[in-house]
Amino acid sequence: MSVISATSQSALYASRLNRVRDEMQRQAIDATLLSVGHDLPYLTGYCAMPLERLTMLVVTHDAPATLIVPRLEAPRVTAHDEVFKIVAWGETENPVEIVAKHLGRAKKIAIGDQMWARFLVELMGFVSGASFARAVDVVGAMRMIKDAAEIAALQAAGAAADRVASQLQRGEIALRGRTEAQVSADISARLIAEGHDAVNFAIVAAGENAASPHHHAGPRVIQNNEILLCDFGGTMNGYCSDITRCVFLGEPSRKIMSAYSVLRAAHSAGVKAGVVGATCESVDAAARAVIDDAGFGDFFIHRTGHGIGMEAHEEPYMVSGNKLPIKAGHAFSVEPGIYLPGKWGMRLEDIVVATEAGPLSMTHVDHSLVILS
Ligand code: ZN
Ligand code: ZN
Ligand code: ZN
Repeated sequence: MSVISATSQSALYASRLNRVRDEMQRQAIDATLLSVGHDLPYLTGYCAMPLERLTMLVVTHDAPATLIVPRLEAPRVTAHDEVFKIVAWGETENPVEIVAKHLGRAKKIAIGDQMWARFLVELMGFVSGASFARAVDVVGAMRMIKDAAEIAALQAAGAAADRVASQLQRGEIALRGRTEAQVSADISARLIAEGHDAVNFAIVAAGENAASPHHHAGPRVIQNNEILLCDFGGTMNGYCSDITRCVFLGEPSRKIMSAYSVLRAAHSAGVKAGVVGATCESVDAAARAVIDDAGFGDFFIHRTGHGIGMEAHEEPYMVSGNKLPIKAGHAFSVEPGIYLPGKWGMRLEDIVVATEAGPLSMTHVDHSLVILS
């Protein structure tokens, strides 16, 4: 069984690497270098730890792809012999020199976004005259389009996040009298209990803190008669979840209720706009128009969404100016918000995948402002 799945994984990585080489050919790129970040596991199954020792996949046209890894990390690499060869470097070797040797006479080199600047600076000393490009232009378009297995992984992660959100909405997570940090830790533990391998973030923001979109959960004690914004997600089998729901403790004011109905309408307009062929910016425009029309335009201070996959935030971004047409398999968040500084904030977020049959949501729990009396 594991032999069969290892073989099919090898075939998957081999086909992805072939597509990378095709794209390199089209752009006259001689070599692509991938280090820390998620292009590397996308193409090889191996995720480099973000440490100071160099890990680098070298992809060229006329040699097998080569994964250069620190010797002590080599045991963590699952070999796919037909896909890439492994070169382990010892503590006294210069790994950048080894990379340079594998580059041959490459003149145009694509570099992964997350490679440490240090390695690029050192590499420049070995490849004088070379020009550089961003590897995202080679791998990004491929990574954006999720295949069936990737969509299934996003659905599984979304379902797990959904279960935690419904525990929140059912009042199963104690809130009043606890600090944001305690509730954040509780939500994190529940994400793991529901099957995530890692928690990426668990924002818990009470009352006026909810007006800061990326508020860091802290010692603030959650009280009655305030809104609580919870935005959390993790990674499960290599793919990410991300959901935001707000609950209200006590009796919400009419102002909050009406603002929330605007938010909900904006969210659903954004989701509906996320169809194949529409531009990414049209998703943002659709959500923003609802909030603008209701007079809250100045209080929606971020883009409407981000792509998601192996990374919690990746391309494509749902932002004004992004004219990229949405394709089937694009996965992204729709998360409009309204933030009144010093008072309160609210956001509503689902991950959707664009399909030929329309937007498919990865999360489904109640979209209303659930009132916990
Ligand atoms: Zn965010
Ligand atoms: Zn989120
Ligand atoms: Zn998000």
